[in-house]
Amino acid sequence: MTNPNAKTAALPYNRSRQAREAETMLDHITDDFDDNPPSMAYFYDLFRRAYCRGESIEREGVRVGTTCIHAPEELIYAFGATPVRLCNGSYHYDQIGADFMPAKSCSLVKATLGMLSSENAIPKTGKLDLIVNPTTCDQKKKASAMMAGMGHSVYELELPPAKESEQARVYWQRSVREFAVRLRQLTGKKLTRKNLMAAMAKTSRAQVAFRTLHNFRRKAPSLILGKDVFLVTNAYFFDDIDRWTDAVERLNAELAQREKDGFCAAQKKAPRILFTGSPPVFPNLKLPLVIEQSGGVVVADETCSANRMLYDMTSVDEWLLNNMVDSLADKYLKPCTCPIFPNNDDRIRRLLDLAKSFAVDGVVYQTFAGCQVYEMEQRSVAEALNKAGIVMLAVETDYSPDDLGQLTTRIEAFLESIKTRKRKAT
Ligand code: SF4
Ligand code: SF4
Repeated sequence: MTNPNAKTAALPYNRSRQAREAETMLDHITDDFDDNPPSMAYFYDLFRRAYCRGESIEREGVRVGTTCIHAPEELIYAFGATPVRLCNGSYHYDQIGADFMPAKSCSLVKATLGMLSSENAIPKTGKLDLIVNPTTCDQKKKASAMMAGMGHSVYELELPPAKESEQARVYWQRSVREFAVRLRQLTGKKLTRKNLMAAMAKTSRAQVAFRTLHNFRRKAPSLILGKDVFLVTNAYFFDDIDRWTDAVERLNAELAQREKDGFCAAQKKAPRILFTGSPPVFPNLKLPLVIEQSGGVVVADETCSANRMLYDMTSVDEWLLNNMVDSLADKYLKPCTCPIFPNNDDRIRRLLDLAKSFAVDGVVYQTFAGCQVYEMEQRSVAEALNKAGIVMLAVETDYSPDDLGQLTTRIEAFLESIKTRKRKAT
């Protein structure tokens, strides 16, 4: 097998394969649509700097890579460290990752491994002092040893196999407390009530900004397209959290003005789509993009690169340190709707609720080839949605651009069928 690194090492970064991949996606996001919100310029520029020009976005202090939304970022901030989410969406890194995992594995896991094994990995967030890998799906679990084999220091954050029982809750709370001990060893700092409160305030300010953005998406006609919202939430993976929150607040102010002005970001009759399944991670935003290039609008999502990552907030009963840590643990377990858990009625409830409250016309369900858990849940989700009169299109894909034509045909047909249904209903 050729080593793609060997080919790109001699090239200036902006001519490397991963830079061109990111640039192509950003060009589509910005140039294929009229009336992009001016305040999105912050995010377009951030991705161009980080992914297309390879600029460093390093930050001071201890850096903790996370491979999944189950890693409690408030704890990382409370120890004065910075979390960086490592889930990766690059086809270039996916191909490198195929040297570690079977070729038919999930693109997200392969791309993350491919990125971690590359010199000068993008985004350049600096050397990681620790990678916390929650024991979620089988592929992520097996990735721990591979990351360690690359020389990374890996901490396995043990999740219980189910989330409903009291035993599961207690098990997970203990795991989170043990993680705090590991962070203390890593940083040499002590966890205090004050530091944790400050960290929780930081993430909760970001979440409030996200929720405001989320609520603007309920509006009909739409004020913002889904491709932009996915870019915003993907920036949360690596951007400075305060800068990110400021930028989202500016975007929200612009959307408020758009609402007053009666602005339409999509055609008034554009089918309103709820996106669920395997998470869209930049630069692999191809499916949301195809939906909107084909005349639909993604008005809501149930994915761990957007809504599931930022919507649920911590609810604290007593502001004592131990209670706060336990409440944080609860936030990362109870509301999570990832299909790794055996019983996932919560996911169906959430999808039905989103479909209703966002006046959704149809659901697009993305499954990455090789992801069994999302594939296994497809049928029960489709049945529940169909019972509620909502149509669903299941799409299996990966990070390769090869299926773009076929995806476009399927999405166009799906959107057309929604329009026909709506015409008949009126
Ligand atoms: S799909 Fe599930 S296991 Fe994978 S990153 Fe998202 S939340 Fe974590
Ligand atoms: S998409 Fe599936 S296989 Fe990939 S990380 Fe998520 S749960 Fe695991």
